[in-house]
Amino acid sequence: MTVSYTSRSQRQQPVRRPGQQPGRRPVRQPGQQQGDSKKGNSFFISPGAAAMMNSERSAAELAIQTGVYAVYRCTIPPPNDPYTSDFCARIGPNSRCFCDCSYSSHQQNSRSTKCKNCSCKRFKYIPSRPEEIGDDFLPRRRGFNIHTWRAKCRCGHPHGSHDPNTLRGSGCNHFESHFLCAMCDRHWEDHETVFESEEERRALNRPVRLVE
Ligand SMILES: [Zn+2]
Ligand SMILES: [Zn+2]
Ligand SMILES: [Zn+2]
Ligand SMILES: [Zn+2]
Repeated sequence: MTVSYTSRSQRQQPVRRPGQQPGRRPVRQPGQQQGDSKKGNSFFISPGAAAMMNSERSAAELAIQTGVYAVYRCTIPPPNDPYTSDFCARIGPNSRCFCDCSYSSHQQNSRSTKCKNCSCKRFKYIPSRPEEIGDDFLPRRRGFNIHTWRAKCRCGHPHGSHDPNTLRGSGCNHFESHFLCAMCDRHWEDHETVFESEEERRALNRPVRLVE
């Protein structure tokens, strides 16, 4: 069985360099290749990219299995971009919620996505890898630990130290992302986590199961 609603790895991703102004896309010169040509072997896949591809795959499989298509979608998609107008990330069993628990720890039915481990009332996707927020260099740093890395609020604290329902932290009124999505260049709060049925997606002309 081949899962083939378009994989994120096949899409062009904006690359944000450290120190670059947030909200500004890198300007690509005409004729310039996507990606860093100095990297040489284009067949090399970093562990982070492999992990993201696996996660995309299990998300697609889960959607086909359950008929629920869970996606993290930008509410202000860049114009003329058919991909980010559908989703910036597909949500699979290991996708992380704002409450710090995985999607598999949440109820997954049409009425509820409540967390089984904590007080979180609704699954809200949050990036779980620095590559998702354009910090591709981070995993190559000495001492980096993907298991302890968390996306942060402007207050400096990780999402997990905020209330999963009110998004309030200690000394912080409301979680505001200190990062931009690598897919659409927008803040976390400019996204929504959406659960769609196959019928709803068909009606909206969004891709559904394609088994080859
Ligand atoms: Zn939870
Ligand atoms: Zn949750
Ligand atoms: Zn905060
Ligand atoms: Zn996005």
